[in-house]
Amino acid sequence: MTSLTYKCMKCGTCCFEIEGQPGSKRIPLYPEEVDVLIEIAKERGVEFNVIEDLVFPDVLNQKLLVVTYKIRLNNPKTCCPFYSLKKGCTIHQIKPFACQAYPLSLIQLDAFNFQISIDSSCPYVIKYHEILNNCGLDEIKEIFKDEYPKAERFYRKNKKIMLKIHRLEYKKKIKIPRNISIKEFNNALEKWDRVELRVK
Ligand code: SF4
Ligand code: SF4
Repeated sequence: MTSLTYKCMKCGTCCFEIEGQPGSKRIPLYPEEVDVLIEIAKERGVEFNVIEDLVFPDVLNQKLLVVTYKIRLNNPKTCCPFYSLKKGCTIHQIKPFACQAYPLSLIQLDAFNFQISIDSSCPYVIKYHEILNNCGLDEIKEIFKDEYPKAERFYRKNKKIMLKIHRLEYKKKIKIPRNISIKEFNNALEKWDRVELRVK
């Protein structure tokens, strides 16, 4: 058993765009999280923009189902608008599921299945990657003892949304194609209305 215990190095890397890769950083937000952050941004006079992140095309209704958005980081500092160089995250108490769990994250295994993973772009993970690579699940839970339960909550929330999609499909209210060409998907992105998928 390792004696390692995760401690954030407060470097801010997770709140910034990946250097040299504009648009590639993913800080996912559920629609209800976007609503909250829009209000905070308004109160603070901060510019806050999101773009769609995880979406499913519903060919039955010709709608794009939005599961998550991601924060746009295309500002001069290329960071989350709620990040302060002096204070770090300025919405720490209400930060999104993804930020609470980080450096644990959800990776997509296939269209509807996700898994808790460790993000390799966090400097703490980079520093201890050899130890972390050799840890079993119980050790990972121990090392990330505050973050793992948050990652599990994040996972459960995502799972609920996937179940909602399956239920809607079962009731024939929507139809998500298992194979869709890039051309068809781009057409949907361009032309179809959006419907947000929300669960409590
Ligand atoms: S990148 Fe990792 S170490 Fe740096 S602030 Fe984010 S969680 Fe902490
Ligand atoms: S909400 Fe906070 S932790 Fe999340 S990206 Fe923004 S500043 Fe960083």
